[in-house]
Amino acid sequence: MSLRFTAIGNITNEASGVPDSASSKITAIFNENVFTIKTAREFLSDEAYKSLITSIRGGKKIDRIVANQIANGIRAWAESKGVTHYTHWFQPLTGTTAEKHDSFFTLKSDGTAIEEFDGAALIQQEPDASSFPSGGLRATFEARGYTAWDPSSPAFIIEIGKGKTLCIPTIFVSYTGESLDYKAPLLKALEALNKSAVEVCNYFDKNVTKVTATLGWEQEYFVIDESLVNARPDLVQCGRTVFGAAPAKGQQLEDHYFGSIPERVYAFMRDYEQECYKLGIPLRTRHNEVAPAQFECAPIFEEVNIAVDHNALLMDIMSRVAKRHKLVVLLHEKPFAGINGSGKHNNWSMATDTGVNLLAPGKTPKTNLMFLTFFVNIIKAVHDHADIMRAAIASAQNDHRLGANEAPPAIISVFVGQYLSKVLSDVEARVNTKFDEQDEAILKLDLHRSIPELMLDNTDRNRTSPFAFTGNKFEFRAVGSSANCAISMTVLNTIMADTLKKFKLDVDALIEKGDKKEIAIMHVIQKYIVESKNVLFEGDGYSDEWHHEAERRGLPNLKTTPVALDAMVSDKAKKLFESNGVYSHTELEARHEIELEKYIKKVQIEARVMGDLAVNHILPNAVKYQNVLLENINGLKAAGLDETTYASQLSLLKEVSAHIQIVHTKVHAMVEARKIVNNIEDTRTKAIAYESQVKSAFFDEIRYHVDKLEHLVDDEIWTLPKYREMLFLR
Ligand code: ADP
Ligand code: MG
Repeated sequence: MSLRFTAIGNITNEASGVPDSASSKITAIFNENVFTIKTAREFLSDEAYKSLITSIRGGKKIDRIVANQIANGIRAWAESKGVTHYTHWFQPLTGTTAEKHDSFFTLKSDGTAIEEFDGAALIQQEPDASSFPSGGLRATFEARGYTAWDPSSPAFIIEIGKGKTLCIPTIFVSYTGESLDYKAPLLKALEALNKSAVEVCNYFDKNVTKVTATLGWEQEYFVIDESLVNARPDLVQCGRTVFGAAPAKGQQLEDHYFGSIPERVYAFMRDYEQECYKLGIPLRTRHNEVAPAQFECAPIFEEVNIAVDHNALLMDIMSRVAKRHKLVVLLHEKPFAGINGSGKHNNWSMATDTGVNLLAPGKTPKTNLMFLTFFVNIIKAVHDHADIMRAAIASAQNDHRLGANEAPPAIISVFVGQYLSKVLSDVEARVNTKFDEQDEAILKLDLHRSIPELMLDNTDRNRTSPFAFTGNKFEFRAVGSSANCAISMTVLNTIMADTLKKFKLDVDALIEKGDKKEIAIMHVIQKYIVESKNVLFEGDGYSDEWHHEAERRGLPNLKTTPVALDAMVSDKAKKLFESNGVYSHTELEARHEIELEKYIKKVQIEARVMGDLAVNHILPNAVKYQNVLLENINGLKAAGLDETTYASQLSLLKEVSAHIQIVHTKVHAMVEARKIVNNIEDTRTKAIAYESQVKSAFFDEIRYHVDKLEHLVDDEIWTLPKYREMLFLR
């Protein structure tokens, strides 16, 4: 019996157990495995505690002696929870998280066994950097890489089975200081934003001393039965199906969206949620998504730094917990053709240490002006750097999704809603009239009283926009489901930091010329609206009209990753990232190289898997069926029956044979094409060639014929689990 039928036979519809804690209050377990500030108070001396807090708040360095004290406190806490090992936890450019476990256990020089964790072990480690991508940084610099403690993200304990490990969040840098991970540049971008946002806030409120960017991600994912996944080599190796005919019932009925959650999946959700709560991940919502077998979860928003760690942790936890339930979580952006893909909306805003959300319309004319300032600055930032935002979401996986008429297009535009569009055009309308001090009516824009209107506007908001204002935050919707949020957050916060910095210069220049502060601010806002309104779009982002319109407006529409990535290394990008202290030129070049290599590898693996599947599964199945038909025809012929009795079989046989021929020839041609492309030296040229000569030239065509065969060949003979089985079995 083929794996497919064994798998179907083995499917259990029974929900497996969830931990007992799942039935108690969330608050009872929330943060249980996190070294929170409260825990720190309990386990640290006054001196160590104060030093830690100062370092979290303002990034002041912790000295060695205090570090020893903190390390001891963290170990005491961890041991009280049964922890034996620790690891520096980091987010290398592979896209997954990394850890290397060491035990507290050590031997003193006289042979005495003790448990130890000192300041040095807390602050720095040297994992073997050679297995992580460095994009050529290693060729030119020292090969070594270090992980360095990031006190702004709290330590936590990961429980796997009965084992418990203390995880120290770290950044990963090379010997000469280049960042080799996603977190180091993110922290720099957040600091850049803090600096320029505070300066702009001070026009309105001198009490603001810190601005923190906030992030609430929404994670979409598919859940599939484990044994069915194991019978699909493409899912196992690529995380997506390279073949598979559309089922008779797909998502046309839209009966899955917000429908009741299947019991088996529900048990899985409750299980992973428990783990998340213990780690302080504030999950809030869970629901079905549009596609069958697709779901979503979202937490309450947090500081970007913490939210990024939490999302990386969540992806790990989900995949691990799913196994207990004999399920597999697919985080790929497009696991099934013809069915919606998965994204990870990044809801983003900024908050002051005085408790103001800078993207929430204010209550007084003054706070309104502050809102308008930040609101218009982000529009300007996206307008000026749309190409870099596009690059930030580029990946082989997301290429299947962006612009596929179910996800935001590859054209970056901003949706602000009817009401705010009007506000912007009202402000803009005055651009030609001299703005004097009497003309302060505009400052009295009563955004606050219009809030109900705003809400109305946003409940019916535009889901086709890649970057949308949703009431008190922007939502970057084009981010892919498997992406590390740090990539888009580094870009967004850097472009905002840069734009605010220029805004301050522009305003100060006008003030110097004698303008009143508010008037100067309004003038610059007007100017920015005029300069960036091209990026505003309220209509249907999926429509052809928009593609034409965007072209007319000169907005970039880069459909494939290899070319979208160019924006990372343009002169503009280099200037932007360097002047804000986020990436050096070399770091950008390295990252660009790494992303291109990732792209090449993904497409290469998919091409190989396609070839293998076609040769080892599809063609043998089709040939078997060919034989069945042949035998039947020959039998009828031998029995002396005339051609009318086997005409249908004959035409079926011809059809099957024709598809077999094409699949075979095309797979062969694809292998040849790959050989040629593999010889290309330059990484960018190679990536572009992989896209055009391998992916575009063959993938869809081979798939078309394989899917036709799936429709024709006897179901009993077909060995790969079908879409209807993977997507609809509960
Ligand atoms: P949906 O987009 O599905 O309608 P919501 O709008 O309620 O859901 O929220 C989506 C996400 O946005 C949640 O994670 C929420 O915490 C987050 N969010 C809300 N306010 C902010 C904010 N000021 N900054 C960042 N994220 C926010
Ligand atoms: Mg949303």
